[in-house]
Amino acid sequence: LPQEFELARPVLQTIERAGYEAYFVGGSVRDTILGKPIHDVDIATSAYPDEIKHLFKRTVDTGIEHGTVMILDHGTGYETTTFRSESTYTDFRRPDQVTFVRSLAEDLKRRDFTINALAMRENGEVIDLFNGLQDLQQRQIRAVGNPQERFHEDALRMMRAVRFASQLDFTIVPETEAAITAHAELLTKIAVERTQVELLKLLEGATPQRGLKPFMATNLWRYCPEFAEQEPALTRLTTSLTQGVADETTAWTLLACAFGLVPAAIGPFLKQWKTSNQTIAAVQTATAAANALQAGELSAWQLYQCGSELLPVANAVAVILGAPDRQTDLLAAWQALPLKAKKQLAATGRDLMQAGIQPGPQLGDLLKQLEYQVVTGQLPNDQAALTQHALDLANLK
Ligand code: ATP
Ligand code: MG
Repeated sequence: LPQEFELARPVLQTIERAGYEAYFVGGSVRDTILGKPIHDVDIATSAYPDEIKHLFKRTVDTGIEHGTVMILDHGTGYETTTFRSESTYTDFRRPDQVTFVRSLAEDLKRRDFTINALAMRENGEVIDLFNGLQDLQQRQIRAVGNPQERFHEDALRMMRAVRFASQLDFTIVPETEAAITAHAELLTKIAVERTQVELLKLLEGATPQRGLKPFMATNLWRYCPEFAEQEPALTRLTTSLTQGVADETTAWTLLACAFGLVPAAIGPFLKQWKTSNQTIAAVQTATAAANALQAGELSAWQLYQCGSELLPVANAVAVILGAPDRQTDLLAAWQALPLKAKKQLAATGRDLMQAGIQPGPQLGDLLKQLEYQVVTGQLPNDQAALTQHALDLANLK
C-alpha cells in the first residue's frame, strides 16, 4: 500500500471498530493499482455523516448534504462520503436527490467508469464488482452499467471519459464511445465551468491525443463554447499535441493561436468559457508573443510584456505549432533587457512632477512612453535623461 493509504488506515479502522464499513474508493484506488502517485484519498462508508462526526474529534462539513464529511487526522483531510445511490436525474447534471444507503454495491453502481468503481479495504483487498481490474489491465474506459443511461443521467461524464483517456493513456471501449456520440449534445446542459475543468485536464494530460481523438470523433467538441467553427484546427491538434500542456494559461494560449484568434477576439472567446480576467490578460499577451515567435520576430517590448512567466508559455505554444524551441535564448534575452518591471524605471511620477509636469492622465502616458523607450533601448534608464525626455515630450504638445 502507498504511504497515503498506510497513513489513512487507522481512520478506516476506527470506522470499522464502530461497526460500519469503510473503503478507499475513486481515483486513489485506480491510481494505486496503476502504480501512479496519488493525490487525495477518498473514503466511502456505510456510516451516516452524523455517525462519522461522533467518531472523530476533528471534522469539517465539506458537503454534508451529499454525505461528505472531511475527517482531519494528523494534518491530513480525508473526504469521507456515505454510501449513496443517485436515483432520478431530470436536468442531465445532478441527481434530484441523494439517498444514503448501507450497501457498498449500491454506491459503486452509481460511479462513472469501471476503473473508478473499485473499492479497497484497509488491508489492501480490492473489491471489483464491475471488472474494473480487467479494464485497468486492458487500459480502457468503460461506463458502469448501461452507458446510454449513464450519460443521459449526467452529461459531464462524457467529458470525464475523454479526459481520463488523456490522463491515463487509455482508450474508450466502443460501446461507451458510441453512447457519447449519441448524447454529445447534452453537454450543452452542463455548466461551462465544469466542462472547462475537464477540457483543461484533457489538455494537461499525459497523452492529449488519446483524449482529443474521441473528443472529436464523438462530436463533443461541437458543443463546447466557440469551438463549432474550429474543426480543422482541433483536428490538427489531435496529431500535433503530443504531450500535455503545463497549465491553464498555456492551454488557452494554444487554443487561441491554433484557432487564429485576433487579439480582440481572445477576450470574448475566454469570456464564453468563463475564465478569470487575469487569465484573459495573460493569454492575450502570451498569444501575441507566440504568434510573433512563429513569425520569427519577437520584439523587445513583447519580451518585456511577457516576462519570465509568460515566455515559457509563448515558447511552448509556438513549439507545438511547429516553431523551433527558443526557451533558453528567450530567457537570456529577457535577462539582458534594460528593464524587467515598471518599478525599475529610474524616473517616477513624482520625479516628473518635481520637474514641473502636471499630474493627470498625461503623466501616466509619459511614463508609459519612457518605459517603452527604455525597454526598446532608445533611452538609458537614467533619471536625468528620462526627466529631460519627458519635459521635451510634454513641451511638444
Ligand atoms: P482525479 O484523479 O482527477 O481526482 P477521480 O477519479 O478521483 O480522479 P473525482 O472527480 O475526484 O475523480 O471523483 C472521485 C470519484 O467519484 C470517481 O473516481 C468516481 O468514482 C466518482 N465520480 C466523480 N464524478 C462522477 C460523476 N460525474 N458520475 C459518477 N461518478 C463520479
Ligand atoms: Mg479524486
